[in-house]
Amino acid sequence: MTSKNHKHQLQANNRTMRKKAKIILVCILGALTFSCKSNTKFTGAKKVSQVHNKNLHWSYQGETGSEHWAEIEQDSDCDGEHQSPINIISTYAKVDSSMEPLDIHYASATKIHEVVNNGHSIQYNFEPGDYLNYNGDKYELKQIHFHEASEHTINGIRYPMVIHMVHVSDKNQFVVLAVMVEEGQDSAPFQFLESYLPLAKGQTKSINTSFDLNKNLPKDKGYFNYIGSLTTPPCTEGVNWFVFKKTITISLEQVKVLQKLMPLNNYRNEQPLNGRIVKQTR
Ligand SMILES: [Zn+2]
Repeated sequence: MTSKNHKHQLQANNRTMRKKAKIILVCILGALTFSCKSNTKFTGAKKVSQVHNKNLHWSYQGETGSEHWAEIEQDSDCDGEHQSPINIISTYAKVDSSMEPLDIHYASATKIHEVVNNGHSIQYNFEPGDYLNYNGDKYELKQIHFHEASEHTINGIRYPMVIHMVHVSDKNQFVVLAVMVEEGQDSAPFQFLESYLPLAKGQTKSINTSFDLNKNLPKDKGYFNYIGSLTTPPCTEGVNWFVFKKTITISLEQVKVLQKLMPLNNYRNEQPLNGRIVKQTR
């Protein structure tokens, strides 16, 4: 062995020793953390008080999942009688010939202001300009976001994805359009939307580019309509829901891009109808 080789051998030994020391340290820290976790595990009282802690944030799973939203968000409507989503049964939905086609005014080039990963969904916020008229009021399009899989089901069918298009009037009333998305041909509008992704949780990215949102709507705009709620806390009631009967398609790859960035199954479970009537266009 040359002295150079000997030096290398010594350095290698030193490295091995440092590695071993690191492993021992990690084990000690690991054991401490584990014992800390075990301690909290047995403090049942603490656990209960945490559920009522305002700082505890709602989610789609486990102790902060949708079954617990009313406990976590105590001033919310989440335990109300007229909640969304629901399962729409088409044979029970009342055909109402007085229902007009939706009076949608989406410009062919409206600016999308920004995209936000709010930890629950990917949301695109709009500049003012896109709106719809309903019952004599003007509802501005504020934002669109996604759920995978869909929240409303139609005849028990849950679609792979839904787009929610949230409109608000100056009386602070909500109209939400739901566009069911199926896997199929890829979609040019989604290619545009997804070109601003990925986006880390809590991150916002400016877009300020024009976009034709009409391309995200089905050609046949027949719909189901009923009064429900926002599907996330505070689950505000009095929301006018319009669920399109026809779907649009995007490719499996496009579904996956969003899926990677949103919580798994970011949809709320079916809520009871409680006597509400669902109407439909012919
Ligand atoms: Zn939604």
